[in-house]
Amino acid sequence: MKTALSISLLLLICCSSFETSTYTQQTGHTNGPIGYYEGDPLPPKTAFLTFDDGPSDWTSDVLDVLKKENVKATFFVCGAWLPKANRIGNSFRKYKTVLIRMKEEGHTIGNHTLGHQNFASMSPKRIESQLDENQKLYQNELGEYSGKLIWIRPPFGSPYIRTKNELIKKRVSSALQGKGLVFMWTKEFDSTDSKEWVKGEWYEKGPRIDIDNEKFRKKMDRIYNSLVSKTEGQGIVILFHDTHPTTKEVLPFVIEKLKAEGYTFATAEDYTRWRWGKTSEELSEEDSD
Ligand SMILES: [Zn+2]
Repeated sequence: MKTALSISLLLLICCSSFETSTYTQQTGHTNGPIGYYEGDPLPPKTAFLTFDDGPSDWTSDVLDVLKKENVKATFFVCGAWLPKANRIGNSFRKYKTVLIRMKEEGHTIGNHTLGHQNFASMSPKRIESQLDENQKLYQNELGEYSGKLIWIRPPFGSPYIRTKNELIKKRVSSALQGKGLVFMWTKEFDSTDSKEWVKGEWYEKGPRIDIDNEKFRKKMDRIYNSLVSKTEGQGIVILFHDTHPTTKEVLPFVIEKLKAEGYTFATAEDYTRWRWGKTSEELSEEDSD
């Protein structure tokens, strides 16, 4: 009874923040593929948690936190980026059960390319194949549990965040056109968890992990403070990496703080419905027509 009540209350809160928006935009994004880019509208008091580069040994811990907090997020996955992935097959095979759980628990899964290379220095053909190969591998490994990775997060956010060169942006944008929907992050809400590797932190669980290590705790503090000091009730897309154990350790604190400030949480899929009133599948099909 108590659970049912809190769920309906939660739904009410979620829906109200989404329904207050009167913003709609037609699908004709002129500067590149449809999506969320820096400066685009976001629903107020809504946090989109996004996790790049996984799956890794830490992804199931991130899922545990999200489940406990009843929060849905978006994961941008790579099949062959994680070091060692090439040696022992691929990340999609190694973490198949984690990916199945991710989907079953209602998170959105997007394409972060096969090998995490910079679009700015790639030919349109290579960009396309990096996305297609990742999708193919995901489909092969996940089988009936797979699906279309419609949302795209360009590695390094490039060229939309890093590059000022308009010609490069144009070239990449036209290569991405019709390949899916782009989901960038809010610039000042990069958690910067990938800025450094502190002692006691690695991709894989093992003896090197020591969450009581001073540098590890300091990094957690740095991430926490930089994120929570900038929230003013605006919509935000936070960039995390589920390849860092500091991320899964700091995550509950960030979520709790955002909740205390009245934030609700949403996925890239929720964003499509909020902004365009369509599913990502409908929207991307229209875009590729
Ligand atoms: Zn990445």
